[in-house]
Amino acid sequence: MGASKVRDLFKQAKEKAPCIVFIDEIDAIGQRRDGRIGGNDEREQTLNQLLTEMDGFEDNTGVVILAATNRPDSLDPALLRPGRFDRRVPVELPDLEGRKEILEVHAQKIRHAKGIDFLKIARMASGASGAELANIVNEAALRAIRQGRKEANQSDFEESIEVVIAGYQKKNAILTDHEKLVVAYHEVGHALVAAMQSHSAPVTKITIVPRTSGALGYTMQVDEGDHYLYTKEELENKIATLCGGRCAEELIFKTISTGASNDIAQATKLARAMITQYGMSEDFGMVALENVNNQYLGGDASLACSSETQTKIDEAVVKLIDDEYAKAFKILEENKTKLDAIAKYLYEKETISGEEFMRILNEEDVK
Ligand code: ZN
Repeated sequence: MGASKVRDLFKQAKEKAPCIVFIDEIDAIGQRRDGRIGGNDEREQTLNQLLTEMDGFEDNTGVVILAATNRPDSLDPALLRPGRFDRRVPVELPDLEGRKEILEVHAQKIRHAKGIDFLKIARMASGASGAELANIVNEAALRAIRQGRKEANQSDFEESIEVVIAGYQKKNAILTDHEKLVVAYHEVGHALVAAMQSHSAPVTKITIVPRTSGALGYTMQVDEGDHYLYTKEELENKIATLCGGRCAEELIFKTISTGASNDIAQATKLARAMITQYGMSEDFGMVALENVNNQYLGGDASLACSSETQTKIDEAVVKLIDDEYAKAFKILEENKTKLDAIAKYLYEKETISGEEFMRILNEEDVK
């Protein structure tokens, strides 16, 4: 903390180039400046100095600046502009293969029996972070010692998963087998509905490794090229795709879970915007029913209509989503064999690419 310390740090870095400057927990100094008078002066000066130093860096190619944070959303936007921290590398929880490798690294530090099936242990510890995996290895060693053995064996590892998971259960999402299966079907539901409709962006990745954001799974769709205009059909298809997760759960398990809450929020927002902002409903036509307040500050919208109209809007939103839900459900019903095949594959692999998804989708024998 302190502008002079930052100056000094960069002076040293330039002298020692080539080198890497690593700032851990950058949010401590890099928090968004709020512009309030009487704010935290020292912190703002430190940040300003950091920004200035990073700007004067074009001719110092030998210095790389890295920083880590758990709260990227709280950072000052100026820090993330081109020329400063211009690349973000999200470190998510490890997938199956990653967990296996992390376990193997930590296991080198303890004495363990030969032929431990690390893949099996990794599979059982779905959703565990690197630190938790290290802990599992530690617990395994302790368990062996407690039982008077010199080496940790397979069951030591397997038992210690439960010890560690029980300790973390409240805080982190470590999924049971059944939950994992539900999430797999949910995500493939999204992906299949997207793939079976025209005008939707191709699926590039599906994963059921829980995200650090709290999401249990994720289906990534990436548009080809830039996209600024959306047609009514595309937006409807988007809503159907968002419904796909819940539809798959209902179709396969005959029950529904809390896993769709984010989808519901997004679908509702989109459906409402279609009616109140984009003039895409026949009942209201080209009438702005909502005013977007400040595009740059999140853009929350306020209604600009009578309360009777509000009621009608609510009904129209429900109807729009209902229709798209029915459409998504029908798509999944007609492609249930494929849904099964891809969900099982995803359940095994935890993360699959768009190509793998398309390959199974297009296989002749799966119909
Ligand atoms: Zn979902």
